[in-house]
Amino acid sequence: MDFSLTPEQERLRKEFDDFFKEEMKNAPPGWGGSLEDMYSADEGWEFHRYMARKLAEKGWLVRAWPKEYGGQDASIMEQVIFGEVSAYHKSPGVDVFGIGLLGPTLLAVGSEEHKKEYLPPIARGETMWCQLWSEPNAGSDLAALATRAVREGDYYVVNGQKTWSSGAHRGDWGFAIVRTDPEQKRSRGLSFLLLDMKAPGVTVRPLLGMDKTHLFNEVYFDNVRVPVKNRVGEEGKGWDVTKAMMNFERTNVGMIFTVKRGLEDLIEFCKETKRNGEPLAKNPLIRNKLAQIAVEVEVGIALAYRIAWIQEKGGPAAMVEAGALAAASKVYGTELNQRFSYVGHQILGPYGQVKKESKWAPLQGTIESGFQQVQGMCIAMGTSEVQRNTIAWLGLGLPRSWDEVFKRPMAK
Ligand SMILES: Cc1cc2nc3c(=O)[nH]c(=O)nc-3n(C[C@H](O)[C@H](O)[C@H](O)COP(=O)(O)OP(=O)(O)OC[C@H]3O[C@@H](n4cnc5c(N)ncnc54)[C@H](O)[C@@H]3O)c2cc1C
Repeated sequence: MDFSLTPEQERLRKEFDDFFKEEMKNAPPGWGGSLEDMYSADEGWEFHRYMARKLAEKGWLVRAWPKEYGGQDASIMEQVIFGEVSAYHKSPGVDVFGIGLLGPTLLAVGSEEHKKEYLPPIARGETMWCQLWSEPNAGSDLAALATRAVREGDYYVVNGQKTWSSGAHRGDWGFAIVRTDPEQKRSRGLSFLLLDMKAPGVTVRPLLGMDKTHLFNEVYFDNVRVPVKNRVGEEGKGWDVTKAMMNFERTNVGMIFTVKRGLEDLIEFCKETKRNGEPLAKNPLIRNKLAQIAVEVEVGIALAYRIAWIQEKGGPAAMVEAGALAAASKVYGTELNQRFSYVGHQILGPYGQVKKESKWAPLQGTIESGFQQVQGMCIAMGTSEVQRNTIAWLGLGLPRSWDEVFKRPMAK
């Protein structure tokens, strides 16, 4: 495998870099690039929408999609380069739910009507989405979900509750998995619906973080009427659509470049800041910790590039390998963010806990806000334990889950 970029890829990286350097000057004061920054305050959300429009004008918002739906048929490696430069500059604009999850799912398993109706507005940066999957009693065990949809003519009438719905208070649309056949158990009898968040009967209530940021919501459905034409896939086969969505392998390169940028900022801080008359950068313990994170960033980049390279190769075996590695990169990227956050706090000391609103907050409070977010990153989109299950199953060929181990008859 060859890690070096082609001259064309180098040119693209520079073009992305120049664009983000210029556009990020428009970021609101104190912008740190987190989901909380984007969803919590109105100016953060407006900046996200502004960047989405700017990226759409450049034709970069959905580069990997086919041209007929607003994309550029870009290669996976080009997408990785775009992802790393955009994360490095802490840019918003790319809707993780509409662009990262729903778009590829509709392209893979959606009807032509759905592709024509929903993909172009996403590609133009006009519609934003949220994910309505988790429920109070269904998280890792998503198939335990209880939200009901009852067919009445050309509509489903939906009743129930979703939780931890990131950005549901901002989203125009949501994609939900609901139970259409209560006689069927677990993953059978579920359907996948596209739902207008402004429809009568949808109530979105905030679930504030301990730092009072507003990322999560509870979403209640009270006799919400959803047209049957908004169902993706067949009735009762929503689990297949959900699985297709979960299977979109990601390199998670953005998480690694978030740490890379954070590390560079921390290194500058250590060069400029003196403690007991000496720059922090001269302290051997601090140098050691920074060097360790630098090594781990390089490992993460290598892992992300390897996934992109395997995906470009294509074929069923490659996709299984990429699936296991994508789970590995999710665990690695989120836990590296956690380790970086701890190191940042050890170096900054008590000042590291000061929030960005204060003039005493070092590094504009980015280490503090990062610390608040990293725990959640290890849970969202599949917890570290569930990702390790996937690595064990897909990567190591071990039995699929504890359930299966326990259900299997004992060997005689
Ligand atoms: C930052 C963040 C954003 C989120 N955004 C959304 C969103 O937008 N939309 C949405 O629908 N949901 C969202 N979620 C919810 C998320 O998908 C769930 O929190 C996650 O799936 C875990 O489910 P749970 O919280 O019910 O925990 P549980 O599933 O109850 O897990 C509890 C603990 O048990 C462990 N565990 C569970 N099953 C297994 C197993 N089989 N093997 C080993 N360990 C296991 C878990 O790893 C965890 O440590 C978000 C969560 C976070 C933290």
